[in-house]
Amino acid sequence: MSRKIEVNNRTYSIPSQPTIVVCVDGCEQDYVNQAILAGKAPFLASLRSSGTVLAGDCVVPSFTNPNNLSIVTGAPPSVHGICGNFFFDEETQTEVLMNDPRYLRAPTILAEMARAGASVAVVTAKDKLRSLLGHRLEGICFSAEKADQVTRQQHGIDDILARVGMPVPSVYSAELSEFVFAAGLSILREERPDLMYLSTTDYVQHKHAPGTPEANAFYAMMDHYLQRLHDEGAVLGVTADHGMNAKTDAIGRPNIVFLQDRLDEQYGAQATRVILPITDPYVVHHGALGSYATVYLRDGNVSGREIMAFIAAIDGVEAVLTRAEASERFELPSDRIGDIVVLGERLTVLGSAADKHDLSGLTVPLRSHGGLSEQKVPLIFNRKLRDIAGTRRLRNFDVFDLALNHLA
Ligand code: ZN
Ligand code: ZN
Repeated sequence: MSRKIEVNNRTYSIPSQPTIVVCVDGCEQDYVNQAILAGKAPFLASLRSSGTVLAGDCVVPSFTNPNNLSIVTGAPPSVHGICGNFFFDEETQTEVLMNDPRYLRAPTILAEMARAGASVAVVTAKDKLRSLLGHRLEGICFSAEKADQVTRQQHGIDDILARVGMPVPSVYSAELSEFVFAAGLSILREERPDLMYLSTTDYVQHKHAPGTPEANAFYAMMDHYLQRLHDEGAVLGVTADHGMNAKTDAIGRPNIVFLQDRLDEQYGAQATRVILPITDPYVVHHGALGSYATVYLRDGNVSGREIMAFIAAIDGVEAVLTRAEASERFELPSDRIGDIVVLGERLTVLGSAADKHDLSGLTVPLRSHGGLSEQKVPLIFNRKLRDIAGTRRLRNFDVFDLALNHLA
């Protein structure tokens, strides 16, 4: 009998062989499909017969942090509390960055595995995720972005630059993700952790559509490393935090609904406050534009129902939900979303006020995520799985369960 632990009401077997979960940021399924068709991902192609290829739904808002935290806790945001990069704190009337672990309301599978005696390693591309993913984790945890600053005392490892043989990559580069894989391979070979979590960045996917030379080269790079990790005997589970879609018209102009401007025109500047939880310190490639926005009502004189009807009639808006509806449907913490939740259609993003968005960094047609249209993501394993066919709606945050509990 394998030993088990319980985390957030789910049971996980402690792995008897190294198990690696990879979160490929922004991995719309067609990226893998196109790379395979172009002959650039032979290892992933081979998993059709030797492994298991499934699809699952990510968490809405289809953003990076809510989904990475769902994956490592095995639970939706209503349990772990992280539902965006930002929320509006109604008590202090300020916009609060949710990168700090004090906003995390649940333990991670990673930390609990380590507490049960397993050796655990985490490598993330951007440093913004490191402290959340590494919360209470006794083990290796660092970001590629700050790989030059790792210390054994703080990050559980040192000299990673020398081991990987790469300089610290730019935060806006494909190499930032490559570094994650190179470091993961080195750690697998030397420390051989029982459990490892690798999380990349979606810089490439924001810029390049599936099947383009740049996207195929990126997936070829990942395929190469996944093959190496497989050759070292690791169990692999590959999923994504969310998909990615073009958010443009037929000639590449962005489709943007500037929601704060529209609401101000209709109801006056003091009636509403639009919060975009995609906003983060690294906005160059998407201009803080995604297909999800929340609205706080500031003026009791205008009814929420009337404002919802007004927003629902705007071209490009897919859905408008009350706080209660959104927290139930998407399993969100109701105290950290707005009075109204708005989702953009597949080709549309939601902005606040036009003058608040710096679009000068958008040198190629806008691609982004956040809505329902980016919910489907791959769940790919290098082993056959048992007991899963058609039994339940799969989520990306089932990936640890599938990799640890369902190996054939
Ligand atoms: Zn992401
Ligand atoms: Zn993104």
